[in-house]
Amino acid sequence: MSANLTFDISRNPNPMPPAERQKALEHLGFGTLFSDHMAIIEWDAATGWHSARVAARRPFEIDPAAAVLHYGQEIFEGMKAYRNGEGQLVLFRPEENARRFNASAERMAMPPIPEALFLEAVEQLVRVDADWVPAGEGASLYLRPFMFASEAFLGVRPSQKYIFSVIACPVGPYFSGGAKPITVWVTEDYSRAARGGTGAAKCGGNYAASLAAQARAYEEGCAQVVFLDAAEQKWIEELGGMNIFFVFDDNRIVTPELGTILPGITRQSLLTLAREEGLEVSERPYAFADWKADSESGRLREVFACGTAAVVASIGEAKFEGGSLRMGNGAIGPVTERLHHKLTGIQRGTEADTHGWVRVV
Ligand code: PMP
Repeated sequence: MSANLTFDISRNPNPMPPAERQKALEHLGFGTLFSDHMAIIEWDAATGWHSARVAARRPFEIDPAAAVLHYGQEIFEGMKAYRNGEGQLVLFRPEENARRFNASAERMAMPPIPEALFLEAVEQLVRVDADWVPAGEGASLYLRPFMFASEAFLGVRPSQKYIFSVIACPVGPYFSGGAKPITVWVTEDYSRAARGGTGAAKCGGNYAASLAAQARAYEEGCAQVVFLDAAEQKWIEELGGMNIFFVFDDNRIVTPELGTILPGITRQSLLTLAREEGLEVSERPYAFADWKADSESGRLREVFACGTAAVVASIGEAKFEGGSLRMGNGAIGPVTERLHHKLTGIQRGTEADTHGWVRVV
């Protein structure tokens, strides 16, 4: 049933007028402006995947007893469509998003979606909303595939019905400060993920659980939270929405190993690029105490965060209860700059895509 679904495409009869859209695309923020359409595919236990369509973006009608509203069975992905120098619309490693989506689905006892179907939903939406892909520097169409439990049933067990959907929003740079280094808050009282938990899945609950820590970060004037491990509150894990890298004076790079963190696609890509640049890369535990000691000794030269939304963001300062650490001299470090340039170049088509990471829509 799900192998050969054909998408029904019905155009929005009332799209945003082109002049208005053009104006909106010139003043992009993050996550508040949405395109005219959405993709939807439904699943139920009896039929499997069915009713694939692209239609006008509109609210869902769901039962008040829909399982997602009570037990939070929900997962999502984040990816971007870019307009490259030749005017083509491209996606960056979308197969990795499809794979990770299914890993999240498995952890949350949700049905997997065939990777080809996931990719087709994303591509169909990008084609229909092609005019929504902005062209400016640092601008892109952010795509949000997601799936939630829609069965009306209050027993605690996996839902027998799900809605998969993709929505899109044109976005500018993620941090309002532009390319300046960001300040992060290292939380020592909230944890994000424990062993055996859902840290490696991209499920809504992980983000709900991070918001109190994120609110504290904002109060402290910080853009993002850094979480430590739940067992010992000792090891650096990741940020609320990004992975983290440490660059040392001997050209070594360290990033926390996978397990309880989200396996970032940007992280994986940067590991590959860093090795190719001749840097020595290790995925291993790194303690907050070592971060403090290594910044004081000067061995630690650069720290950066990475993810789809911001790509690479230099970390200039880390604050924590009772202190702060400054990294570098307030400017973006050379390794951070080089890796950022290389990765965005591949995404935008100004650097050779030797790995076959870019997929033309
Ligand atoms: N960690 C978390 C918690 C995230 O939400 C994200 C964003 N998806 C990342 C890391 C970075 O992942 P990616 O590079 O695939 O966007």
